[in-house]
Amino acid sequence: MDSGLIDALRQAVGAEHVLTGREDLLCYSYDATPGFSHLPEAVVMPASAAEVARVLALANEARVPVYPRGAGTNLSAGAVPLKGGLVLLTARLNRIVEIDAANLVAVAEPGVVVGDLNKAVEEFGLIYPPDPGTVATATLGGTVAENAGGLRGLKYGVSKHYVMGLEVVLADGRILHTGGKTVKDVAGYDLTKLFTGSEGTLGVITQVTVKLVPAPEARQSMLATFAGLDDAGRAIAAIIAAKIIPATLEIMDNATVRTVEEYAKVGLPTEAEAVLLIEVDGIAEAVAKDAAKVAEVLKANNAADIRTAADAAERDKIWAARRAALPALAKLRPTTFVEDATVPRSKVPDMIRAVNGIAAKHSVTIGTFGHAGDGNLHPTIVCDIRDAAEMERVQQAMDEIFAAALALGGTLSGEHGIGAGKLRYMESQFGPAAMGAMRAIKKALDPNCILNPGKLVGECG
Ligand SMILES: Cc1cc2nc3c(=O)[nH]c(=O)nc-3n(C[C@H](O)[C@H](O)[C@H](O)COP(=O)(O)OP(=O)(O)OC[C@H]3O[C@@H](n4cnc5c(N)ncnc54)[C@H](O)[C@@H]3O)c2cc1C
Repeated sequence: MDSGLIDALRQAVGAEHVLTGREDLLCYSYDATPGFSHLPEAVVMPASAAEVARVLALANEARVPVYPRGAGTNLSAGAVPLKGGLVLLTARLNRIVEIDAANLVAVAEPGVVVGDLNKAVEEFGLIYPPDPGTVATATLGGTVAENAGGLRGLKYGVSKHYVMGLEVVLADGRILHTGGKTVKDVAGYDLTKLFTGSEGTLGVITQVTVKLVPAPEARQSMLATFAGLDDAGRAIAAIIAAKIIPATLEIMDNATVRTVEEYAKVGLPTEAEAVLLIEVDGIAEAVAKDAAKVAEVLKANNAADIRTAADAAERDKIWAARRAALPALAKLRPTTFVEDATVPRSKVPDMIRAVNGIAAKHSVTIGTFGHAGDGNLHPTIVCDIRDAAEMERVQQAMDEIFAAALALGGTLSGEHGIGAGKLRYMESQFGPAAMGAMRAIKKALDPNCILNPGKLVGECG
């Protein structure tokens, strides 16, 4: 990168907010996705939309790639600076601008940590529902750009269901505003939705207006074990058919259950083919009624054992089992790929069976857990990235997992996005016409292809 550009960036954001030391650059050369890394040439930390605009205008003029970055926790290589250039870190854009309890709205900058936003709105008896496992570190900007979800997705949806308005800096430095605080707003193209989930490829988000919802008055957690996967699948469908929408309806397959039990000793039966973890929330009377109905449905579908949390300690124990799923699997081998192939909820058993078949066929270790209620599964492949022969088998297994999800009427991602990790499968989900439309949007908003190049829609032009 031209030293004149570095000088201009230092002038734009302050010399101490431009990092070029090799030890600093190394820290921003990767994210939470194994197998992807590349050194940027500089890391820039602007503190306002005007500074972001100046940085982008300079980069656009010089045709230098810019990689927006929140906390770097994404699992699809979205924040890796694959072509060098600049990492634009949002850590200094970290103000909660406003909590407007009367309108059930909060306005915040992208670098605010999602868990901090939730703590702030809890004081008003409100919640911001998108709750990724990384809620203590992931940023609002990163979760909105990734369209992140979490355990409460079944009832509450993902980030896009809460983003009401955005401030975005375009590749050439122009600033635009979308949406706002009104509940109803149908004017014009829905640019808010376009930028939400755009993974840093269309603009840099510098402010977000989000919808808040009242915190539930009560919640009840339950755990049910099943000797047969199909019974668990039927139970999932039957809960929804009984017109109950739990906040959370999670599944762990046998491989995950065995690993969790060995790691966390939470009392799971290791012979269970599947374990469901369920939480209903809402008004106390409705929660009690729903929980009783869920227990009935579980019994009717051959649940071998049903535990209902009697108090907060028992609730914590149930969710500790689910929280242990990823660390327990990750402990087995040096490298962990967490995928998020997603299928219609009725196809969850078929998908788990397909994953198990693929694991056996390619001799790779895969545990599957995830958000059964919304069909968003996390087949988790544990392996050793240093073993080239094993990695070849892992790649084949991944290709087949995503092909299986699409064949079952599913999608490549329920919450982790596409990034560079799943780019190779995009054409098979969308076909040439939809891919052409997406690339045309990219070209219109970022004609020099400086924003997160090589992600989501691939190479420009
Ligand atoms: C252990 C673990 C558990 C996880 N659990 C979940 C889960 O339950 N649900 C879930 O959805 N995800 C989960 N994730 C994935 C990850 O936490 C999410 O993708 C999260 O949204 C990333 O936020 P971030 O701040 O780290 O963003 P980053 O990783 O820094 O960036 C994510 C993407 O957004 C872009 N970006 C960042 N900030 C901006 C901005 N201001 N403007 C424009 N683009 C921007 C980046 O270029 C990148 O493409 C998990 C990850 C790990 C490691």
